[in-house]
Amino acid sequence: MKYIFVSGGVISGLGKGITTSSLGLILQSKGYKISPVKVDMYLNIDAGTIRPQEHGEVFVTDDGIETDQDLGHYERFIDTPLTRANYITTGQVYQAVLNKERAFEYDGEDVEAIPHVTDEIIKRIKEAGKAKNADITIIEYGGTVGEYQNGLFFEAYRILKLKNPADVIHVHVGYLPIPNSLGEMKSKPVQQSVRVLNSMGIQPDFVVGRASYPIDKKRKERIALFCNVLEEDVISNPDVPSIYEVPLVLSDQDFGEKILSKLGLEPKSKDLSDWRSLVSTIKGASEVAKIAIVGKYFGTGDYQLEDVYVSVIESLKHACWSNNLKPSLHWIDSEKIEKEGIGILEKIDGIVVPGGFGSRGTEGMIEAIKFARERKVPYLGLCYGMQMATIEFARNVLGLKDANTTEVDTDSPHPIIHIMPDQEKKLLLREYGATMRLGAWDCLLKPGTKAYAAYGKKEISERHRHRYELNNKYRGQLEKAGFIISGTSPDGHLAEIIELKDHPFFMGSQFHPEFKSRPLRPHPLFKAFIEALAQLR
Ligand code: GLN
Repeated sequence: MKYIFVSGGVISGLGKGITTSSLGLILQSKGYKISPVKVDMYLNIDAGTIRPQEHGEVFVTDDGIETDQDLGHYERFIDTPLTRANYITTGQVYQAVLNKERAFEYDGEDVEAIPHVTDEIIKRIKEAGKAKNADITIIEYGGTVGEYQNGLFFEAYRILKLKNPADVIHVHVGYLPIPNSLGEMKSKPVQQSVRVLNSMGIQPDFVVGRASYPIDKKRKERIALFCNVLEEDVISNPDVPSIYEVPLVLSDQDFGEKILSKLGLEPKSKDLSDWRSLVSTIKGASEVAKIAIVGKYFGTGDYQLEDVYVSVIESLKHACWSNNLKPSLHWIDSEKIEKEGIGILEKIDGIVVPGGFGSRGTEGMIEAIKFARERKVPYLGLCYGMQMATIEFARNVLGLKDANTTEVDTDSPHPIIHIMPDQEKKLLLREYGATMRLGAWDCLLKPGTKAYAAYGKKEISERHRHRYELNNKYRGQLEKAGFIISGTSPDGHLAEIIELKDHPFFMGSQFHPEFKSRPLRPHPLFKAFIEALAQLR
């Protein structure tokens, strides 16, 4: 097994995840099996209990772990389902070490950061490779080099490298700013972050320079000289219009060949031709599809965080491109609809209400859904968006005033969405971590429905993350009024997909289809939504 570690320097949010994903795709395209791993430095066991402002999207795998959004990028780029082995946090590592200590598994030794914690980290990294039967495991370290809390992970790298020098390499991703006042690209911050790595006994094999523009020869020479790498091993990773172009940009610099040669591996045949044609489709699409994402918005200081919905955004893009459309996504804060009305939705081709929790902004979502239903604008509801669509229908078609989810109104006279019985117990015991209905569950589709037509088959499996469900007490009433439950759990108990007749496209899923859309294989529901929208234009 070979290992490639990817660390970041200068600033966070550099696109290390896209760099790692691209590297995975490039090496996969050269015939190698890849297992990408994300290491997060926080003490949380998983991302499920971290608020979106802190962490962005929580991505869910088939085996139901709530992970970092980078796993979503890995899955989208290398098109392989990942598992809990592909996600490591400091919390998991410490928990395992402390459990072993309590079980006397260290045989009376004093348990120390090095080697016990580092051994646990190395063990988990190796397991991640084995779980995917990988030739190459790519490990992305969250955060930036030099942070106090990630030191032990860098120590684990150093030790693994020391023991397997020919099988382990390090890629450092740094940022080269171009300050407005200077108008010149500066390489010093990258030099500094490599210095920090050096001070930990680590010499990177490659320096990937993120910047607005490609790195010129002069700066490559300086980075090579001061960072102790070959000039050809300084790789440019400039801003490009689409993240799906990054693998091509890196591949055109022979990054894959250079990595394989350092690892003593030969490239096997295969190429990135699928990916090249995807990028030319992306560039070629000219007709615009205007899609509103009506959700609860998250701010940090003066800025809005869009990466809370990153998989939704990517899924919409995949489906638009497959219809030769250029996505134009409009961020609509549902609280703004509550204050200013739905006028903002005029001239929109399609409306999406994504997943969410809590009461903030829900009335605005319901207003937007009413608009979509009445004005026959294509609508796709994802998890909370499906629950809100059911509430809207109950209130405005069935006339059940104050119908709601008990998540928002515990005393609703019409709890059309209510907590699942096993979930109620968990919440009473304050068992919040990893206890939602998570991961892949089977679903049966009803023949003759739009959902069935979209998938073209009866049995599907989709990923979930929720505690509430459609209240079966209201099913008869809903169905009588034309509300279709087009997908259920195999025992028929849980409503998994809802849709409306006499509407070009109005659908909601209790699951999150966005976790399974891939750029080369858009998700059937997103595809059907965009197709419906395209036909109406
Ligand atoms: N808050 C809702 C629930 O827990 C929906 C969750 C979601 O959108 N992921 O059921």
